Amino acid sequence: MDSIKHKKLLIASILGLAGLIINLYPSPLFANIQLILGNASYVICAILFGPWYALYTAMITVSGLFIAWDSLHVYLLFPIEALFLGLAMRKNIYSLYASIVFWFTIGMPLFYLYAILNTNLPSSHLPFIIAKQGINGVFYAGIASLLVILTPSFWNYQPKSKSKQRRTFSAQLTYAFTLVISLALLLAALLFNNQFINRYQALLSENIKESAQQLGTLAQAYIDTHVQALNNAASSLSLREASLPQQQLSLSKLHQMYPGFITMLIANKQGDIKGASPVSRLRGRTNNEAELSIIDRDYFIEAFVNQRNFISPVFLGRGFGNDPIVAISAPIYAADNAYRPIGIIEGSLDLSKFKEIDKTNKTFKNQSIVLVDSKNRVIFASPELSIAPLSEFSYSQNSTDYTTPLPMLNILDQESMAPEYVFSSFKLDNRWKLYVLNPFRPLVLLVENMYIATFAILIISMLITFLITRVISARLTRPLEEIANKFSNSNGNINHNYGIDDGSPKEIYSLYKRLNQSKKQLIGYQLELEEKVALRTFELEQANEQLKTLAEKDSLTGLYNRRYAEDKFSAIQESCQRTDEVIAIAILDLDRFKHINDTYGHLSGDATLKTVAKLLKDDFKRDGDIIVRYGGEEFLIIMPLCNALKIESHLENFKQRLANTVIESTDKTTHFNVTTSIGAVIANGTYSDALEDWIKQADINLYSAKHGGRNKLVFTTLLDSCAKNDFNQ
Ligand code: GH3
Ligand code: MG
Ligand code: MG
Repeated sequence: MDSIKHKKLLIASILGLAGLIINLYPSPLFANIQLILGNASYVICAILFGPWYALYTAMITVSGLFIAWDSLHVYLLFPIEALFLGLAMRKNIYSLYASIVFWFTIGMPLFYLYAILNTNLPSSHLPFIIAKQGINGVFYAGIASLLVILTPSFWNYQPKSKSKQRRTFSAQLTYAFTLVISLALLLAALLFNNQFINRYQALLSENIKESAQQLGTLAQAYIDTHVQALNNAASSLSLREASLPQQQLSLSKLHQMYPGFITMLIANKQGDIKGASPVSRLRGRTNNEAELSIIDRDYFIEAFVNQRNFISPVFLGRGFGNDPIVAISAPIYAADNAYRPIGIIEGSLDLSKFKEIDKTNKTFKNQSIVLVDSKNRVIFASPELSIAPLSEFSYSQNSTDYTTPLPMLNILDQESMAPEYVFSSFKLDNRWKLYVLNPFRPLVLLVENMYIATFAILIISMLITFLITRVISARLTRPLEEIANKFSNSNGNINHNYGIDDGSPKEIYSLYKRLNQSKKQLIGYQLELEEKVALRTFELEQANEQLKTLAEKDSLTGLYNRRYAEDKFSAIQESCQRTDEVIAIAILDLDRFKHINDTYGHLSGDATLKTVAKLLKDDFKRDGDIIVRYGGEEFLIIMPLCNALKIESHLENFKQRLANTVIESTDKTTHFNVTTSIGAVIANGTYSDALEDWIKQADINLYSAKHGGRNKLVFTTLLDSCAKNDFNQ
């Protein structure tokens, strides 16, 4: 007993450790959703050893999850599951069914409570995570069940089912089918879902990279074109000394060709604006000289002082609304000296152009863009991001828990673990950066919906499997049960159908046929047996009869023997006593019989005895008369209900007839006669209930008859009504 306990504890510990190790590396399904498989170990324990070993194993196994997740709830939820499954096993409930019941009634509600009270999981995520937890539980319970079924060395530990707990074939078949189909389905669904999600993510990543590339190139081209245009204008202005009106004209022409510039200007070496487009800019502001000087601006300093083609960082344009702009400037050189700058030409680039780029992108994609300058300040951001231009573009990338190949970032809630956007960036030549952002939530929703659909299909198919298997197995078990029931209690009606029809399986049909045949045979045997028994009974009765005859009768003469007389007498006496009737008793002793034996041989003696017996039978044939061979050559006649007067003459007549009977010796050589002495007595039934008393009286008379010379009758009447006279002859 103890060694079995030790062995169980050892197996439970090994399973616990294996589960712990497997749980340390939960397999990622998508993002932070993981498939737990190690818990199958305590389900195995629950199936094999019951609730307490399962609890023990669970405490070890879930430590793996505790290490991986750092959440204490694993020490509550899963051990309760282990106990539940172990107790269900004691009640002989299959673990897969028990697991479904557990998750729907305890597991998922408990996990929901825990998630609400102890985690900051967004509530929109909860149904999915809880459903996933439940399905995961059912999944590892199924795997555990299958492992137990497939591992022969586990079978010894399975509790032996008592007869009352014996499962029906239908239940076993249904369980096996439900188990295999749900596991296969779940596995296939997980695999395909995973495949799909990976593919989808790859596509998304590719797509977003492409977008970044494309939009970045567009932005680059936009900037390049305008820079190029401005540079070209600067070069052409440098070629010849142009008058101010000429300068203004070519500036206006250029602006017309490139409406991407909001404003354009030409400044002289003092930084005073000498030409502008639109011209109103110049005209409307003449009363404030300072406003016409751009000597302090970066774009003037860079172009004029440092003699560079310049693109400014983004800034808010002064006096032209609050649009963020970038200034592009280039130096204008003196016509005679290509190294002496005489002024600059500048264009303020309209950044709202990116709005259009953004819009064209949006018509077929769910993406937003953010364009930042080299100082990481926002030049343009899609309106739905509500990021103010010129603000610093700040985001976080802390969603490391999410297992996804996509780069992710958070803008709105930078603390959140749930990533907001998948992104890709493109670096422009001028060190600007274009980010393309794709919201992550739709992908999560898609995946969640896919999993929920999978789970729904799983549950439906489990139900369908359950029902179909029951129907199929009923085809086998129903006729079997009916055959078993009806064959056991029907008597003789062998042509009954027992639920067998055209749809019944072949095996059942042949079983039915064979059983029917056997039954016919059995009935045949039964009839034969009954016949034999009847015959034997008859023979036995006959033998009994013979035995009885042997016990009651004398074999030589066929007369009753002394025991019979003694047996019968008391009944006769009682009856006569009741009805106040008389009984006559006579004892006959053949005279000198020894002499007959001696003279004619013993066989002749026997023959004589037979002759006497026959004569007696012929003479005393009333129903009540009993003729008995009382001894060797002595006979006793009991005559109830007789007539006292007639009986004496009757005896007398008999004595005479015997004396007259000629007997032939057995060798047929001689003839001889035999006589008899008779002692008789007649009395009321009340005389005595003992035959001896009667015989004693008759014996006395017989003695008298012998002494009287033999061949004599001595008869005594002892009747109350009669005088007690001797009727001696
Ligand atoms: P009594 O007139 O005084 O009666 O003379 P008895 O010879 O008849 O008397 P006893 O009692 O001396 O002899 C009886 C004889 O009957 C003796 C015996 O051998 C013979 N006996 C008794 N039973 C049988 C029997 O079954 N068969 C034959 N053959 N003889 C028998
Ligand atoms: Mg005798
Ligand atoms: Mg005699």
